Amino acid sequence: MGLNGPGNYRVEDNKVFTRAIEINAVRHCNLSCRSCSHSAPIAEKKINNAKKILEDLSKLSNYLKCETVRVVGGEPLLHPELCKVLKAIKDSKICENICLVTNGTLLDKLDDECLLNIEKIEISLYPLQNKVTNKIQKQAEEIRNKGKKVTILEYSSFREAISREKSNDKNIVNKIYDTCQIAHFLRCITIENGRLYRCPQSMIYEEKTGDKKDSIEIKSINNINYLLKFLENNNALNSCASCLGSVGKAFSHEQINKNKWEEALPEKPEEAIDNFYLNRLIEDARFETGCMSRKKL
Ligand code: SF4
Repeated sequence: MGLNGPGNYRVEDNKVFTRAIEINAVRHCNLSCRSCSHSAPIAEKKINNAKKILEDLSKLSNYLKCETVRVVGGEPLLHPELCKVLKAIKDSKICENICLVTNGTLLDKLDDECLLNIEKIEISLYPLQNKVTNKIQKQAEEIRNKGKKVTILEYSSFREAISREKSNDKNIVNKIYDTCQIAHFLRCITIENGRLYRCPQSMIYEEKTGDKKDSIEIKSINNINYLLKFLENNNALNSCASCLGSVGKAFSHEQINKNKWEEALPEKPEEAIDNFYLNRLIEDARFETGCMSRKKL
């Protein structure tokens, strides 16, 4: 994934321009990756409504446009009406492209009607059984043969993403925020249920705590300066106090029992910081991405 770089957002045709925004089709997942950055293994079954997505994106499209809407989750192919979600995104005219981000295990559910509104598929390939991996690769090839761009990113390791408790150390929290590639480079702006977030982690934090200071209501946006002020804020979010940003310690990817997912998290962020990586990012904010992926052919 390309990096946008820190600093100000571009403004084009009196609209804020960003590389991508994220829509969670659903929040739950059929896998249970330890330290999933979207906390999907412990998410309640939640299916987002296509009409609401159209309403939110249409309003937002008056002030923001993007190259790509990334349809994520949870596992988006668990949405029973994914085609309607994809069409809603297209109809909002907020983006040039739609990218479906999937773990690949449910590609059987991706029919030609859905493919009509998808420009790109990004498969996050985790270390699963060989026969599952082989099937995913075969299906990816079949989709490529239908003229769609398919990228497979193999993830053999993850970084710790969030903690159970908040840190009280402002210095640490500010360092985590300042080096956060999710907020400053990847700019994973997330839209859900009428609200806009700078990252998926802040949406999850808001749900857990009820603290709405890290998001804005889409209907309250009535000029681009208000939106830019929110997106370009230099201060750490409240949610950064229980987040590792891009600097969590790395570990080999593993599937974990959903009931044990929360207890496997570090108690506080400071317990799980990769200090070498943190210091490298302080020196050079572009020092490799926090996502430990390898592109496959
Ligand atoms: S909560 Fe803070 S540190 Fe975590 S991803 Fe969002 S901006 Fe980055």
